[in-house]
Order: sequence, then C-alpha cells, then structure tokens
Amino acid sequence: MQAPTHILAGSVIQELCKTRRFPLLTYFLTAVFGFFSHGLLDKLAITTYHPPRADFSDAFWISYHVGVLLATIVAVYVYGARYGWGIIFAVLPDVDWILIHGQRLTGISLPFYQTPHIHNFLNAFFDTVAAPLSALPDYRHYPWAGIFEIALIALFILLLHRLQRRRRNIHFR
Ligand SMILES: [Zn+2]
Repeated sequence: MQAPTHILAGSVIQELCKTRRFPLLTYFLTAVFGFFSHGLLDKLAITTYHPPRADFSDAFWISYHVGVLLATIVAVYVYGARYGWGIIFAVLPDVDWILIHGQRLTGISLPFYQTPHIHNFLNAFFDTVAAPLSALPDYRHYPWAGIFEIALIALFILLLHRLQRRRRNIHFR
C-alpha cells in the first residue's frame, strides 16, 4: 500500500495498544503489530491501484502519486509527533526499497540485498497464516481501484479520532 495508509495504520495500532499501566508493553505490541500491519496491507494492495512499475508518461499515474506524496507529508505532520513509534514500525519494511533503489541510484552494490528480504518474509508469513488473501482479485492496473485505498485511509482517520475521543472521555470520567 501507499505510505499514508501505512502511517495511519501505525497510528491506529499505537492508539489501540496504549495501556497506561504498562508503557513497555505498549511499545512492544505497537512495534510488533505495526511491523506486521505492513505485510497485511501490502497483501491487500493487490486490490487497489498499484501499478508495479512507475509510468511517467501517464498523467493519472503522476497526479495520483503527487497526491500520495502530499498526503504522506500531511500525515507525518499531523500524526508524526504523537504516533512516531507506531509509524516507524508500520513503515519499516519499506527500508527494502530504499536499499534496493538506493543501490541503483548510487551505483553502490550490496550483494546480500538484491531482493526485498523483509517484504519476502512478510509475504511468506501471510501466505501461511492467511492463505485466502492470495486469492484476492488483482486490480493494480485499474485507476478506479485507487478508491479502495482512499476509503481505507478515511476509515483509519475516522477510527483514530473515535479512539482518541473515547480515551479523552474515559480520562475525564
Ligand atoms: Zn511495502
């Protein structure tokens, strides 16, 4: 999935895992669930607009990805300070792409990092524990499928604000 989706997922997970009494447990659970949320969302990404290759000749591809970039900046600005820990782990697997594309851009070669190891691990993990996900329809090339990802982001924002409000109410009771 795209960065804003992972950022929102990390924020929701951190809010869900929050316990006042066991802060260390909060950190631990947020890290684990955040990390695995990345793999789960990337599995679902097959049903959203997600062409595997960049296409700079396609106006829709460009505008969609400019939107993604802007949404990423806004999401980090709004949720970064409060949910930084969850966001880091939810986005962490994308270190794969930084290392792989980084090698191509810089010309530096890391022989042990030619494949996305973290994504491969998460993919294999969800293929084992949630095999039916592999049967999801492939809509990656259809622009209209971007709606699914936008809807998911909207759902996460709604959920996050609900959770925040509930916590505030409990606090004042
Ligand atoms: Zn990913």
